[in-house]
Amino acid sequence: MTMHTTLSHHINGRWQLSAATESLDVLNPATGESLARVPLGTQAETSAAIEAASAAFPAWRATPPEDRIQYLFKLKTLLEEHFEELARLITMENGKTLTEAKAEVRRSIENVEVACGIPTLMQGYNLEDVARGIDEIMFRQPLGVVAAITPFNFPVMVPFWFLPYAIACGNTFILKPSEKVPLSMNRLFELMDQLGLPEGVLNMVHGAKPAVDTLLEHPAVRAISFVGSTPVARYIYAEASRHGKRVQAQGGAKNHVVILPDADMEMTAQIISDSAFGCAGQRCLAVSVAVTVGESHRTFTKAITDLAASINVNYGLEEGAQMGPVINSGSKARIESLIGKGAEQGAALLLDGRHAKVSKYEKGSFVRPTILDHVPADGELSRTEIFGPVLSLVSAESVDQALGMISRNPYGNAASIFTSSGAAARKFRNEAPAGNVGVNIGVAAPMAYFPFSGWKDSFFGVVHGQGRDAIEFYTEKKVVIERWPREWSRKF
Ligand code: NAD
Repeated sequence: MTMHTTLSHHINGRWQLSAATESLDVLNPATGESLARVPLGTQAETSAAIEAASAAFPAWRATPPEDRIQYLFKLKTLLEEHFEELARLITMENGKTLTEAKAEVRRSIENVEVACGIPTLMQGYNLEDVARGIDEIMFRQPLGVVAAITPFNFPVMVPFWFLPYAIACGNTFILKPSEKVPLSMNRLFELMDQLGLPEGVLNMVHGAKPAVDTLLEHPAVRAISFVGSTPVARYIYAEASRHGKRVQAQGGAKNHVVILPDADMEMTAQIISDSAFGCAGQRCLAVSVAVTVGESHRTFTKAITDLAASINVNYGLEEGAQMGPVINSGSKARIESLIGKGAEQGAALLLDGRHAKVSKYEKGSFVRPTILDHVPADGELSRTEIFGPVLSLVSAESVDQALGMISRNPYGNAASIFTSSGAAARKFRNEAPAGNVGVNIGVAAPMAYFPFSGWKDSFFGVVHGQGRDAIEFYTEKKVVIERWPREWSRKF
């Protein structure tokens, strides 16, 4: 790939140097080295992207869906051809292991595949003779210019929750990737130059709040998709709505898993270990609190502690690495301080991952797997999103008590249960107040053809990302009612 010293925006089919006076280093979280600099794009640059997308919309909208998806078939091929390269880039800028990065690229491709079904998915419906001689038809039409603002933890997959569906539906699109991990999408835009898309259909601006605020305020932007932390999600939802836009804002999480004594403990511990410590706990679907019911506490605690202690923490490009660093030193300091607070408030530190050192990578932001036991169910550690490799253990006497804990939690992204009882699983599935529910599943991640369905403070909006929800979000419905009296046909 071309490593740009300072990244450029991609506006109207061309790379454009930013005139911004501020820029940031894009750091490799494992080595601490700077990979590039990212400009904090200006309002004028973001407006230029919006204007390019607006100008491209009429012709793109008029392009038949069948023709639009041909670009996506080519994109799928490009992604497969550059699979390894993109995964390595994700590892370098985000820190997750190469295996995890490959899984991310695979999930991204699946969203392209689903969006290739737009000629079917975008269909409306109709009915003849809603009254005598009157028919009614519902068409779905694209909105216009739409934008996505995305987080650091999935540099490619989260943009791909939106990009393929948006353009397949006939919208033109602007991405504002995370300024912490802009390289993979930058590379993807280089690759997407080969698609031959009309200028202005896909645009990317680098930046932070000023770029985002321009997207939220500009009258030509019709819809905003956001994924990131809850305080920012709340802000985006309020501001975008105030400016009359359609908005879906996915926020943070605090996911609970409930373990019943009848669960297959070996399998449960392995899956929960992968969920809590995979991607160094920086997944919005990662398990953060394990609620053990009754005697499962004893067996689960031993199994999970042994497994977590054995995880090979290393630079994600090193052979055998099972967990990489967290995103940066600020995040490491925040996570370590929360671990300290938990211990001060009475939790027992079964495994303390603070002050981790990884040989050859002394400048890396590593935190090893951490387990705290006897965490107060409604204490700070049980409520706060840690977004690091930290698992809190909480005890409950019954499924109802565990469900009460989940209900009192402000977030509702995911909740899981591990059990061999169908009745307990069914009760949990029915009553758990979360939008993504797992039964004997550690990361309840919906496939691309289902909605990514957070609830409560994990989501602000109505229609979610991915699958049929994406088509609902990126189109508006037009109902046409036609009168063609039968008598008129006698003329012919
Ligand atoms: P973040 O909220 O700090 O940043 C997300 C995006 O918002 C970035 O592009 C950033 O530039 C922009 N931004 C940040 N502050 C802003 C402000 N004040 N005004 C306008 N824009 C602003 O999130 P992050 O640290 O990059 O990502 C981690 C968070 O994302 C976690 O809370 C995690 O749970 C959440 N997340 C949620 C989901 C989900 O599906 N619910 C998925 C992935 C990540």
